[in-house]
Amino acid sequence: MAVHAHPDDESSKGAATTARYADEGVDVLVVTLTGGERGDVLNPAMDTPGVAERMPEIRRQEMAAAARILGVRHTWLGFVDSGLPQGDPLPPLPDGSFATVPPAEATEALVRVVREFRPHVMTTYDENGGYPHPDHIRCHEVSVAAFELAGDHVRFRSAGDPWTPLKLYYNHAFSRRRLDRFKAEFVARGEPFPLAEWLDRIARRPDDMDRVTTWVECAKYFPVRDDALRAHATQIDPNGNFFAIPMELQQQVWPTEEFELARSRVATDIPEDDLFAGIDPARYL
Ligand SMILES: [Zn+2]
Repeated sequence: MAVHAHPDDESSKGAATTARYADEGVDVLVVTLTGGERGDVLNPAMDTPGVAERMPEIRRQEMAAAARILGVRHTWLGFVDSGLPQGDPLPPLPDGSFATVPPAEATEALVRVVREFRPHVMTTYDENGGYPHPDHIRCHEVSVAAFELAGDHVRFRSAGDPWTPLKLYYNHAFSRRRLDRFKAEFVARGEPFPLAEWLDRIARRPDDMDRVTTWVECAKYFPVRDDALRAHATQIDPNGNFFAIPMELQQQVWPTEEFELARSRVATDIPEDDLFAGIDPARYL
């Protein structure tokens, strides 16, 4: 079960991994907590009259297309996008938006889905949210709480029969080490590195890669990931950063997606190459 804040997050964080597991016969469910209603039109080609007004409906269609491409099942939790507050001081969060909903209410909604779907493995974001969007931070909090409490017989009694997931991971999709590796390839070829600005921006932050425990080989599914991203046509500029590194280069020099094992109820050896490592099918599946 991959838990994400907005439609399109499932296609930019761990997407090739979900596509691979789905292709290998794992039942994969993407849960999207909000409808992405406050997303801007980020693809100039889609910035046409009427699009912004129809955003909620368009994003549902985009999400359905992306789920089809990834080969995963999908469900909405039904909360409303908080938007990315901008300005100094930051404006208050919109009334009723996801980040203003009491955490226990959002947790119960996710616990209900966990108890229905009964996942062995869950993925979400780390405590920084991957990037500082209030919905991403809340996605982390609610996912961790649901992982902890879904198996609790006392909590959320009206949300279904208890189910205890075994492993919880954080996505680490945007590490500095990965960009550095690509940059070295461009430098070796005497070409300008197209993501230099992005690399500069994260240069002084701690690198997510230091937290990674698990490398999932999924290069074969990078084209599927890119197709799913492009399905979110209002959000993803086909000429933007996500597509700046040639596919073959990515597949050659960085064929994995990375995760951090945040909680585990089974024994496993780090580093891992499989989100299901340590889960004995005879016992659990
Ligand atoms: Zn998001």
